[in-house]
Amino acid sequence: MAYVCLNCGKKAKSIEKSFIRCQYCGYRVLAKERSSLAREISTD
Ligand SMILES: [Zn+2]
Repeated sequence: MAYVCLNCGKKAKSIEKSFIRCQYCGYRVLAKERSSLAREISTD
């Protein structure tokens, strides 16, 4: 599940279920990304 930081707008992956934080700016308010539900394959 990917999340979008509401502060900087970058995508952040959940590190832990109970602790989700933006890895770029440290902001702790993220929104679930719902635009690509059909694509769950990581291309990293
Ligand atoms: Zn951020």
